[in-house]
Amino acid sequence: MFDNLSDKLDKALHVLKGHGQITEINVAETLKEVRRALLDADVNFKIAKEFTNRVKEKALGQNVLTNLQPGQLMVKIVKDELTELMGGDAEGIDLSSTPSVILMSGLQGSGKTTFSGKLANFLKKKKNRKSLLVACDVYRPAAIDQLHVVGEQIGVEVYSDRGNTDPVAIAKAGVAHAKAIGASVVIVDTAGRLAVDEVMMTEISNIHKAITPNETLFVVDSMTGQDAVNTAKAFNDVLNFDGVILTKLDGDTRGGAAISIKSVVDKPIKFIGTGEKMEAIDVFYPSRMAERILG
Ligand code: GDP
Repeated sequence: MFDNLSDKLDKALHVLKGHGQITEINVAETLKEVRRALLDADVNFKIAKEFTNRVKEKALGQNVLTNLQPGQLMVKIVKDELTELMGGDAEGIDLSSTPSVILMSGLQGSGKTTFSGKLANFLKKKKNRKSLLVACDVYRPAAIDQLHVVGEQIGVEVYSDRGNTDPVAIAKAGVAHAKAIGASVVIVDTAGRLAVDEVMMTEISNIHKAITPNETLFVVDSMTGQDAVNTAKAFNDVLNFDGVILTKLDGDTRGGAAISIKSVVDKPIKFIGTGEKMEAIDVFYPSRMAERILG
């Protein structure tokens, strides 16, 4: 995960670590390298620039040049800033209502259905919660089948209504069904499109209004790079979602999405997907991720 970024940042900071004497020039050079590493990882230009400016300010403020271990101090400053950039403290999800309603949003193929199953499984195993999965994709029968397969795999009931073409009605009926069977969490999987379009946005917005979820989660494929940030912005403008789910972090992602999304939409990344299996889910901890990136 993020191997390339990790390598480049390591090289950038290595220069500083190796110097007996640290000068303003090599701090400036290091920051330039750090910025280049972030840009290479697909981090947005403005974010990368602001990032290195903040590191520079902190470094000067903490007198990095006269510090006994300037290299280590620089690494710490970069790590702290990277943590902050990805969201500061880890945030949980709101399960305070009975049932708590969780709405999934995102493009087709982002991993919504897979993540819906992973989350239901996670809540069952780790929090002892009974979930109901609700299939609201009325366009692709295969999507409904897929959710049923997932549900069966993890032993969680799935609500669907194949004759119904109104996703708002299905979502509402799903919440009512959850109450009837005593499920404490309802996870509503919705239809995505290949790109942001108005029909999809209106539909998800109508579902959102009708079921007033405790949590609206935006699911995004981390492999999509800069596009992930633009898509996040489009969904956030309509849904004002509560958190981001970053999927496919097991793939060859450059990591820029993880690093940029928080600053662009100011919403926390709550979970990450790290594989196709139902167990491949992790709570996202920005500090652990920064630790991993910086080694
Ligand atoms: P949806 O259209 O948003 O519901 O997306 P799906 O849940 O159907 O996922 C699309 C594809 O991505 C499927 O082949 C999933 O198995 C795969 N997928 C989902 N999450 C992950 C992940 O974290 N890692 C990997 N490697 N594949 C994933």
